Amino acid sequence: MDAQAHVDLVNEFSAHNYAPLPAVISKAEGVWVEDVEGRRFMDFLAAYSAVNFGHSNAELMQVAREQLERVTLTSRAFITDQLGPFCKELAELCNMETVLPMNTGAEAVETAIKTARRWGYQIKGVQADKAKIIVCDQNFHGRTTTVISFSTDPDCRKDFGPFTPGFEVVPYGDIEALKNAIDDNTVGFLVEPIQGEAGIIVPPDGYLQEVRQACTDSNILFIADEIQSGLGRTGKTFACDHENVKPDIYILGKALGAGIMPVSAVVSSRAIMDVFTPGSHGSTFGGNPLACTIGRKVIEILGKGEIQDHTTQLAGYLFDRLRAYKWDKVTTIRGRGLWVGIELDRVSAGKAKPYCLRLMEEGLLCKDTHEYSIRLAPPLIITKEEIDWALERLDKVLR
Ligand SMILES: *Cc1c(COP(=O)(O)O)cnc(C)c1O
Repeated sequence: MDAQAHVDLVNEFSAHNYAPLPAVISKAEGVWVEDVEGRRFMDFLAAYSAVNFGHSNAELMQVAREQLERVTLTSRAFITDQLGPFCKELAELCNMETVLPMNTGAEAVETAIKTARRWGYQIKGVQADKAKIIVCDQNFHGRTTTVISFSTDPDCRKDFGPFTPGFEVVPYGDIEALKNAIDDNTVGFLVEPIQGEAGIIVPPDGYLQEVRQACTDSNILFIADEIQSGLGRTGKTFACDHENVKPDIYILGKALGAGIMPVSAVVSSRAIMDVFTPGSHGSTFGGNPLACTIGRKVIEILGKGEIQDHTTQLAGYLFDRLRAYKWDKVTTIRGRGLWVGIELDRVSAGKAKPYCLRLMEEGLLCKDTHEYSIRLAPPLIITKEEIDWALERLDKVLR
């Protein structure tokens, strides 16, 4: 089947909950993917950071393959030889004490919400069913019914009500708004240290430190959703590291499974995590040995720090070059690490999607976000030469 036949098949038989670019990929290696007709593209999205270590990464594939031959799933009714080491190693990477493994990001966010609510009732002493969690405008934390209950994007919510109560939205990056929203029933502040889906929005310098202080002062949990910003993307293990801040709860996903398996986790202290007792939460697949093995290799790679340094180095180069072009159609270039939002001028350029289509025709795969931004997030293993290749295409399309 050629590419068009695949596009038609997807249009006919798949739900229309996505509007993908018509690149029909059949294999991938490193930063490159290949379509069914043998055309090669550079992947400048990396599955929204799930493929941080590149496609078909040899080390990761090797441990996955070996585990596939041994045991892949037992459920949490039993313990496998991968679970303990995974939890220990992830807790250590996070400088925390305990791990609750799940599968997708949204499930880990749900888990963190349940953690904060129970902590509120059982430890802080909030009155039954009154717990409030503060979240930010333009947030993205996943797609479950509870998580979209506090989305501010109308497309995510329309006709999916009734919604889960117990959330209050404040503007992102505004510390006074957060402080004003905190009351006696507040149990936590759930925030992306850098907003991904909103268009790679970096908060003002010092914001995360102020958030840490405000949460400590008011005895509420600082819950950092590092599903997209974490695990090397910004040049540090966590985006919170840029401000030397440690949240009470990390929510991790995406790159933790290296694009091989969905692997997510909530990581916190023993005191907080002990709100969970047998039967109070769980997942058939969470903490399965295949996921744990892959996660352990990801943790090992991050533990060396080389990929973070490489990311920082190349990010400096990428931002310097991007800013030097001074494209008329572009109003802002923002981001951190190998994570870039290119904001187009609404009048002279218009929406981002047609530019992503043209970039695809030039061999570069990236994604529009919030209509007027082009999001760049290549695998972190990318080389300088590969970045040069991508920049040539970007210049051709944006000039
Ligand atoms: C992708 C993402 C999620 C949801 O993860 P899924 O695996 O798609 O459920 C949650 N939070 C952030 C910040 C994300 O980027």
